[in-house]
Amino acid sequence: MTTKTIPVSLPREVPLITQAQVLVVGGGPGGIGAAVAAARGGADTLLVEHYGFLGGMATAGEVNPFMPNHIDRQSLDTGIFEEWVERMAHYGGVRGDHTRTFDPNVARLAAEDLCLDAGVRLLYHHRAAHVESSDRRIRAVVLHSKSGLGAVRASQYIDSTGDGDVAALAGCAFHFGSEQTGGAQPMTLCFKLKLDRASAPDGKRDRDLYLLMRESMDDIQAAYRKAQEDGRIECPRENVLVFRGVDDDVVHFNTTRVIRKSSIKGDELSAAEVEARRQLRQIIDVLRSEVPIFKNARIYSIAPQIGIRESRRIIGRNYVTVEDYKAARRYPDAVARVRYGIDIHNPEGKGTTIIHLDPGVWYEIPWGSLLPRDTDNLAIGSRCISVDHAVHSSVRVMPPVCSLGQAAGTAAALAVKAGCDVSEVNGITLNTELRKAGRNLLEHDSDHAPTPVRSPEQQEKKLAAQSKAAGNFSA
Ligand SMILES: Cc1cc2nc3c(=O)[nH]c(=O)nc-3n(C[C@H](O)[C@H](O)[C@H](O)COP(=O)(O)OP(=O)(O)OC[C@H]3O[C@@H](n4cnc5c(N)ncnc54)[C@H](O)[C@@H]3O)c2cc1C
Repeated sequence: MTTKTIPVSLPREVPLITQAQVLVVGGGPGGIGAAVAAARGGADTLLVEHYGFLGGMATAGEVNPFMPNHIDRQSLDTGIFEEWVERMAHYGGVRGDHTRTFDPNVARLAAEDLCLDAGVRLLYHHRAAHVESSDRRIRAVVLHSKSGLGAVRASQYIDSTGDGDVAALAGCAFHFGSEQTGGAQPMTLCFKLKLDRASAPDGKRDRDLYLLMRESMDDIQAAYRKAQEDGRIECPRENVLVFRGVDDDVVHFNTTRVIRKSSIKGDELSAAEVEARRQLRQIIDVLRSEVPIFKNARIYSIAPQIGIRESRRIIGRNYVTVEDYKAARRYPDAVARVRYGIDIHNPEGKGTTIIHLDPGVWYEIPWGSLLPRDTDNLAIGSRCISVDHAVHSSVRVMPPVCSLGQAAGTAAALAVKAGCDVSEVNGITLNTELRKAGRNLLEHDSDHAPTPVRSPEQQEKKLAAQSKAAGNFSA
């Protein structure tokens, strides 16, 4: 995109749309957890969302299923995440009890139910475009909508945009992508195909069509790879990745892969949508023409937007690294426990790095990873917390992200009550509040030597070394 500039005459003043005690920007899994927790904590809470519905990647990105984050089949995301799933089940849109597949339409309804019941005020079709801040505090967020520009003032702010838009606009430092290459995980446009029972072999037409399709997986992979070699499929992903839809005859594809494009650059995000749909057309053509079970399959759905796995990671007051992950590190101010493994789709092309934790092992996310280093009345309630590239690939899945949001929202309400900023909320008090609200966290136990918060000096040193190595540190 050109770097040429032109003078503009943007307004020096904008209407104040409304005020709130807590403003949550972004209504994905993190924003749902944040807004519901803040409202339940007694704060007047406004949730602003770019789309006309909630769910973020779960709905607008049609990402599926909820990846398991369990110990001994017990969810580590008890609390608002599990309530969200229960509400979905009420509409009949969930399947499975461990790795749960869900209907994105139902996810929208259930998320809105939770927010409205908690007393959250919803403002759809508004997008954060600018942040007014001074003296380490956000003073207002300027939104853009069909009405033009307008501002919202709050006492405490939560960035649940996934991309860390609010934090970045407030001037918070962030990392982007891998420490070695600077590349973020690829984007993927999710879609679903509906199988035609008539395409099943004789005598098998009454079978679960998804399971029947899985019996053709070798043929599917062979056809895909051959088409890749011939140039008929340009998707760089190594294989076809599919999951079950809620219905037996629906196949969910997490297969397109757009590499080397940044989701926080408008023009590259737009180009990514076009590239992903080109890949989608090619994949569908090959499957329909070469794999009998897909012969008459038709498009069931295409996500409204391309899925974004990784973008900014806002530098916080603590920082969790892959060494902490491997050491299964615990913290006295833990706000989430995570067992889901490292899962890095190669930012440069083929391949996916997956590293599982041993059975029964988890690591923790400390409160300081949700608190931007550079702003005092802002917490991060979405995937873009202060962790490295590898840990982000683990914590980013929807169940723990919703729990991170719940922690940010709970803390923001505590701050409003205490008349302080969210960054002053004590992490051990927060951990206790979250446990009272049913979160599956552990009480600090002196037998498990906790890791002290990294001192700012240690953290500066570490970040400076990483920034030098990667050249991707930005303010
Ligand atoms: C292709 C793909 C596959 C995945 N597979 C799985 C999976 O199988 N299982 C799993 O559990 N997780 C999966 N994930 C991860 C998971 O979906 C995301 O990491 C998770 O949804 C992040 O939640 P979030 O709330 O941080 O952000 P998001 O879900 O991205 O939500 C952010 C919300 O903020 C809104 N927003 C953004 N910017 C602004 C702005 N400036 N102003 C106003 N609103 C704004 C957006 O519209 C959106 O609603 C996958 C992700 C992708 C991309």
